[in-house]
Amino acid sequence: VLSCHGVRKVFGDQVVLDGLDLDVSEHEVVALIGASGSGKSTLLRCVNLLEELDDGTIHLDGEHITDPRVDPDKVRQRIGIVFQAYNLFPHMTVLENVTLAPVRVHGVPRTAARAQALEWLGRVGLADKAYAYPDRLSGGQQQRVAIVRALVNSPRLLLLDEVTSALDPELVGEVLSMIRDLKSDGVTMVLATHEMGFARQVADRVCFLDGGRVLEQGPPEQVFAEPAEARTRQFLSRII
Ligand code: ATP
Ligand code: MG
Repeated sequence: VLSCHGVRKVFGDQVVLDGLDLDVSEHEVVALIGASGSGKSTLLRCVNLLEELDDGTIHLDGEHITDPRVDPDKVRQRIGIVFQAYNLFPHMTVLENVTLAPVRVHGVPRTAARAQALEWLGRVGLADKAYAYPDRLSGGQQQRVAIVRALVNSPRLLLLDEVTSALDPELVGEVLSMIRDLKSDGVTMVLATHEMGFARQVADRVCFLDGGRVLEQGPPEQVFAEPAEARTRQFLSRII
């Protein structure tokens, strides 16, 4: 589904991504781990074309999306992204929040967008919140709405950046279980996280970012239990 090749991103004199390669297959869930500042969010933003690459290429379903001639809005219709702070619009109901982008940006007819939104809300147990305003929802519910909002276009790929880190610990579970459900539905995901328990539970593959590249990757059992690289061991020993 996704193929990043030689991705380079520089901010000023700081090289954040330095020739990074990453491939993600259909239905795969990939967790990006690594120290703060290692470039996890930057990589997700590059994939969603929120940052321009300084070098390298990104392909989505075989299409070269970092080609300057490609319309970023068209690409973003095929990629859902959710950030740490859920960013729902407070003056709009859940349903309005979820249907805003499909209707306004992507030209989906309102009735179709609403039907799809209600179906997704039902699937994640939030049907009864469709007409509520965000301040009436718990943090976990708000984050689940934000994930639904990213899913209404049935994206090929869902990018999740620290989606649990702004939540109280008791609310993290409901978001994790939603992500696990999406995984069993076959949604392809790339997620950045500081929570190794989360990565271990949902990821098929864990990628450790260091020095602007994927230094080590493999199934969670392997990367967490028997990291091959000294840098990975050092990182894990500091946070687990
Ligand atoms: P964290 O785990 O804290 O979320 P991260 O791995 O997501 O970290 P990034 O947010 O990708 O790291 O940031 C990587 C580096 O790039 C950081 O040093 C950051 O300061 C820098 N950076 C990110 N965005 C910008 C920007 N728009 N302008 C300048 N520097 C930036
Ligand atoms: Mg980040």
